Amino acid sequence: MNIAILAAEVAPWSKTGGLGDVCGALPGVLAALGHRVLTVSPRYKEYADADDTGVRTYIHLFGQRHEVRYFVARTPAPEAVAGDAPVGDAPAGIAAPGEVRHVFVDHPSFRRGGIYGDAHGSYGDNLFRFALLSRAGIEAAALVPVFRPAPGTADLAPLGEDVVFHVNDWHTSLVPLYLDAIYRPAGHFRRAGTVLGIHNAGHQGAFAAHQFAGLDVSSRWWPHTDMNGHLNLLKTGVVLADRVVAVSPNYAREICGELGFGLGHLFASRGRELLGIVNGVGEEWNPATDPQIAAPFSAEDLSGKLACKRALQAELGLPARDVPLLALIARLDPQKGVDLLMEILPWLMTQDVQLVILGSGSAALEQQMREMEWNHRDKARGWVGYNEGLAHRMEAGADLFLMPSRFEPCGLNQIYSLRYGTVPVVHATGGLADTVETLDPSRDRGTGWAFRSFSAGAFMDAMGWALLTWWRFPDEWRAMQRRGMTQDWTWTRSARAYERVYAEVLGLRG
Ligand code: ADP
Repeated sequence: MNIAILAAEVAPWSKTGGLGDVCGALPGVLAALGHRVLTVSPRYKEYADADDTGVRTYIHLFGQRHEVRYFVARTPAPEAVAGDAPVGDAPAGIAAPGEVRHVFVDHPSFRRGGIYGDAHGSYGDNLFRFALLSRAGIEAAALVPVFRPAPGTADLAPLGEDVVFHVNDWHTSLVPLYLDAIYRPAGHFRRAGTVLGIHNAGHQGAFAAHQFAGLDVSSRWWPHTDMNGHLNLLKTGVVLADRVVAVSPNYAREICGELGFGLGHLFASRGRELLGIVNGVGEEWNPATDPQIAAPFSAEDLSGKLACKRALQAELGLPARDVPLLALIARLDPQKGVDLLMEILPWLMTQDVQLVILGSGSAALEQQMREMEWNHRDKARGWVGYNEGLAHRMEAGADLFLMPSRFEPCGLNQIYSLRYGTVPVVHATGGLADTVETLDPSRDRGTGWAFRSFSAGAFMDAMGWALLTWWRFPDEWRAMQRRGMTQDWTWTRSARAYERVYAEVLGLRG
């Protein structure tokens, strides 16, 4: 299949969160499964590994004609595909079928330093910027020659018009509208399909109604973009995309209600055309090969995990004791429910445990973390800041991972925890409910604890069971760790699910 993934963020070139991670990781795995995959994202700055293709297009928006240029990354796909000719040191843009090509749309409005805004807030022309990305993204599939049509062919061809556009969040939600309003009536992209990925339905791209005129489409499309008298880009995608895919099945259900932030009824109206696919986790989070941890370990041989615990205790200056070591890593945002942990902290600190929190964000929570450490030097540490290496060492060395999020579209840390035998205690919301199953020793099931109500009582209750199990039932504990560690949370599993959706939408128009 020909797959074009359009997004405001593609890691490692641009990333603020999960959106960038998904759009950075999924393409390579799809390519490894044999597809031709293009990503299109803005050229936010000069990328040393991306060259000018010389291809230009002109896009009419907000009453003017705008020139955009296309750049393409030189790096070959992360995973080679069996049977493909090696790319070697091929010149820019040359790709064998089955490879990922990363295209960057160049326009002065993208090159400002920020992705969505700066210290003064969101950029005032974001509607223009992301409408431009959407139009340029569609045309990239037809214009930018980056794929070799057949192995051994010298000439390059574009991805083509028989393509699945996998667009993401509100930034590229206008793609289905532009296909219907501009390109298909002109005879282009007749058989192209569209999939809208929902990473966070809380951001919708809402703009004043008068800005609709700048989008360069007839006013008969206004009802598709109108949400209570405002222009709402996410709504446009939700009603017009062939399929809508949230980042977990449970989140797909939740956005049909309150977590749809006003679009719930529209998500619900898609019925079976709305589904959820849990994100994958890359090989950098594998305790058997992780170079950042003190000792490797696996489900078959957990002995290295104790060495990791001792190393973590030493690094943080905690006593080398055999007590449950609890970890929490998060952006300190109200979404993450760290306040709920602070609520149960007085009780938790009466228990014989050690607790490490890594995070930054809310100044109030950062202050509470410092006070916690000050008041409980012998058992608690609050590390304020962003520290990737420490995040790995905490996942490896802790016994329990806490994730009391208010809402969580997918969540990654609980999946890392499962892989590292660090038993998660989570609030049963969004992807957390899909990935963590509460222990049921009578049926040899469960990988952690998922508490139902977002309350200190429910969190404390779950923690009580977790601590009791750690102290009293070590065999049960190890069995639970192993169940989590042997689950398949690879990107290949996710990519296979996306493959099925793409095949469906390509079949829709014959
Ligand atoms: P979200 O995308 O909402 O922040 P996820 O759980 O999906 O939440 O992903 C968070 C990612 O960011 C994880 O990889 C986590 O380890 C990382 N992370 C968050 N805060 C920190 C921090 N202070 N230091 C290191 N890594 C962090």
